[in-house]
Amino acid sequence: MAASIYPDYPPELTSTQSEYLLSNVKDWSILNGLAVRPSLSFVSEEVDSSRSLAVTAPVTIFPSLFPRRCFEEARAIQTAYNELYALVARDEEWLRNIVEEIVEVDDFIAHLWDVHLAVKKEGYVQSLSLGIFRSDYMVHKDPSQPDTKPEIRQVEFNTIASSFGGLAAKVSGLHSHLLSITAYPPMNPALITKSSLPANSSIASISQGLAVAHKAYGPPKSHPSLPLCILFVVQDPENNVFDQHALASALLSNHNILTFRLPFPVTLAHTHISSGQPSRPLIYKPPHSPSTAYEVTTLYFRAGYAPTEYTSSKSWEARLHLERSAAIKCPSILTHLAGSKKIQQILATPSSLHLDRFLSSTISADLISRVRATFAAIYPLDDSKAGKYAIGIATDVGKARGYVLKPQREGGGNNIYGLKIPPFIKSLGDESKKYRSHILMELIEPPALRNSVYRNGEVTQGEVIGELGVYGVCLWQHGEEVAGPKILENWEAGYLLRTKGKDSEEGGVAAGFGAVDSVCLI
Ligand code: ADP
Ligand code: MG
Ligand code: MG
Repeated sequence: MAASIYPDYPPELTSTQSEYLLSNVKDWSILNGLAVRPSLSFVSEEVDSSRSLAVTAPVTIFPSLFPRRCFEEARAIQTAYNELYALVARDEEWLRNIVEEIVEVDDFIAHLWDVHLAVKKEGYVQSLSLGIFRSDYMVHKDPSQPDTKPEIRQVEFNTIASSFGGLAAKVSGLHSHLLSITAYPPMNPALITKSSLPANSSIASISQGLAVAHKAYGPPKSHPSLPLCILFVVQDPENNVFDQHALASALLSNHNILTFRLPFPVTLAHTHISSGQPSRPLIYKPPHSPSTAYEVTTLYFRAGYAPTEYTSSKSWEARLHLERSAAIKCPSILTHLAGSKKIQQILATPSSLHLDRFLSSTISADLISRVRATFAAIYPLDDSKAGKYAIGIATDVGKARGYVLKPQREGGGNNIYGLKIPPFIKSLGDESKKYRSHILMELIEPPALRNSVYRNGEVTQGEVIGELGVYGVCLWQHGEEVAGPKILENWEAGYLLRTKGKDSEEGGVAAGFGAVDSVCLI
């Protein structure tokens, strides 16, 4: 598509043009916090033993060409998607039926579910839930039908630790800046223009979501004079800190809200819930100033989604402790579970009525069908007709090529691709139960484009493919009998474009193969 219409994009640069462009990428990125801590494979531990260095985040030099209709469609349906996942997370009964199938074979999901059950037994004290979501898409165009228009297909829907919102807006800023200072050479046609580079509100819009939750929490429950704060629950070490700081900084400057970073492993050491208080306010004492106590309004999880983070029963105790507190969780355990690949597969089942059931009372039939149109084929691996069909594909080297097998995991690096699927299935042995914790998805194969990626101080040019993520913010009330509306706030919150080498299977920027990009709409 785009590559064949515009074969000369991005333009060839002379060495002087290239040096000018690159020196501006390097300087602007550091000036504006478009940065990451270098990974230890790039800078050795001896060189950066105090983890104090920062380098430009992996970025593309040019914004990637992206079909305007796909971009606009992805943004237009985001609030419907937000509502869908909020309503899924509210529907414990519906979730239970699905989750119970997986808990037998997936310890991690089982632990998460147990946390929910434990809090349910005691009684939840917080009825508000915050979602900072990201719906990810690739562009699909049927190669056998050259006249059809490109469409978006959903890769996945993230409900926990949807990252890069802090850097995404800055890459848009970088590419606009490069245009403004004439660092891009004249092109014919002039593809990079002010009107082809849409503004990206991700930092302001996502931080606004946290601010709205903070406000909705209301006055302190522990003691009227206790100051309030938001806690970012984080991994430690974390290379992607500036992405998170961008949100914390916007919370302070735009909303006057104080945030602290709580490494998940030290949760129990630095937070507590007073046993005498039935409303269970969560109290945080910062290690740098333990005599000052803060009451936590909102817990923003940028950690806690990978089984490796739960190193002992203490880790699960910590997750339970946070879940049962009065703080608004972003996400709650049920919202975390709603983001499972299994849920996506069930929602995407052709001719199923789930979408209508969740959305038809508030969302138009037209919008529901536009949401449905983004579903790629996803199959269960079970005893159903579709499941048997999928097992047939997954065990056949001749058929598995066009598919990806996914477990119920987040954070990149967990999937099995194409020809590796049959031997993997074989390694699971005869226990068909074990299949059930996976889904099989058709591979979306977007048309390749060209771009240059700047990563770890080096420029690599070549064929790339992009993955568009649209952020969404949603605040809702759960519980059976809520007074007033269920959904209190709901908006589309900016976008992320990640670009990776055409032949690399995963596009994780943090995991090591991709770059943060922005769209040049065509
Ligand atoms: P995670 O939650 O670990 O990010 P994803 O479902 O997003 O899991 O898969 C990780 C990556 O694998 C995606 O960013 C994308 O590059 C690739 N991928 C996943 N599903 C597909 C698909 N159906 N078609 C093409 N690529 C895919
Ligand atoms: Mg994910
Ligand atoms: Mg993903």
